[in-house]
Amino acid sequence: MALLGDGKKMKRWVHIGAALGLALSGAARASAQAKPLAAGDVSRIYDKLLKEIDQIPIYDNHSHATFPDDPDMDAMASPPDESTVMRLRDSNPEFVAAAKALFGYPYDDFKPEHAKWLIDRKKAAEAAGGTAYWDSILDKLKIETCLANRVALAPYLDPKRFHWVFFVDSFLFPFDNQEQAARNGDMGVYIPLQEKVLHRYMKQEGVSGLPADLASYEAFVRQTVSDNQKKGGVAMKFEAAYFRSLYFRDPPRDKAESIYSRYHSGGIPSEEEYHTFQDYIFRVLIDQAGKLKLPVHFHSAVGIGDYFSLRNGNPLNLENVVRDPRYSNVKFVLIHGGYPYTLDMIWMTAAKNVYTDSSLVGYYVYPSELKNILKQWISLYPEKIMFGSDAFPFNDAVGAEETFWLASRSARTAIGAALAELVAEGAFNEEKALELARLYLHDNAARLYGEMK
Ligand SMILES: [Zn+2]
Repeated sequence: MALLGDGKKMKRWVHIGAALGLALSGAARASAQAKPLAAGDVSRIYDKLLKEIDQIPIYDNHSHATFPDDPDMDAMASPPDESTVMRLRDSNPEFVAAAKALFGYPYDDFKPEHAKWLIDRKKAAEAAGGTAYWDSILDKLKIETCLANRVALAPYLDPKRFHWVFFVDSFLFPFDNQEQAARNGDMGVYIPLQEKVLHRYMKQEGVSGLPADLASYEAFVRQTVSDNQKKGGVAMKFEAAYFRSLYFRDPPRDKAESIYSRYHSGGIPSEEEYHTFQDYIFRVLIDQAGKLKLPVHFHSAVGIGDYFSLRNGNPLNLENVVRDPRYSNVKFVLIHGGYPYTLDMIWMTAAKNVYTDSSLVGYYVYPSELKNILKQWISLYPEKIMFGSDAFPFNDAVGAEETFWLASRSARTAIGAALAELVAEGAFNEEKALELARLYLHDNAARLYGEMK
């Protein structure tokens, strides 16, 4: 009843105000209820905000900074017949704009005789060696720090600026993978690469063959992760969505133990047996991440390839894991915004240990649509969202350099537009808007990786 009384009182004040013809000042508007339509000049507010936003140093949560001929850039390869979204095709004039902005590219297309100018320049930078080239790319885009999701660190990436995110999916494939690779054309490309990474880790750890029992295999897995962290790894990454569902069950250890003892020296496990074993090892990895305070990245979104399952990659599959009290000390970073399930994704981040980023989404869709996604995200959990470029070389001419440019320009303009609309709608003032922009572009990631209080 008290509430009703207050409501009546408020109504009366509004009536009195209206009767007196009181004009609401800017400050008063900011403290009033937000409106569904912009009250101010959105593009003027946008221009003002963007000037400031352009000065914010970026912390890039996800990239594949690399020269195009470096096989360590990813633990995956594009399978044949991939169909590329429109914005990422060579014909996108934005890539020409990127090459002009970064290198003063003198042409207006990527005809082979023109693209050669760009390719030669990049090849020369690679041949020159040293870390100055990639640092200079970051400097041009005001990217302060950048996570590099790669199979191994590269000598040409400055460890002060590029921090390593290493892959752990290979631990899920220790057995005879003939049937896995035969499942479809995509798996035929992916599985041999996973085997390669596993062998690389075995060599790193001085393990000559698969250990004799599950306990020793677990010890090998835990030690590799711990050593990768010591080598500079700041997070582990699962691209499991490309191979299987992100729904992981919780099988008892003895089940995994009997599967391991049956197949570690040969024989092909059934689909169900392999799945059970993977569910178990997955949990060993998550447990180790908690012990080492190592954030865990997941590809959780659409994916390339001809057989990628949207259902398998849906971030909601991970709910039972991220909400499991046993893993409350693990920071989960569900990259790519769960795209296209971006609204489901932001509600996943309601859990205190779950974060997301706009990598991949930010160059799949144009800034006008990225603006809509970011507007929704920033209105809900602004402390849980991060910028990510997913910079990646698409061919010898259009490289990670151009995609860094495309992603960072898109994100700065889209967050500027989202915030300008919210300011114009009376949600908050410009000062608050810039604070939120800093969270998204830099501070949330810097805090997550312990570089900022
Ligand atoms: Zn990526």
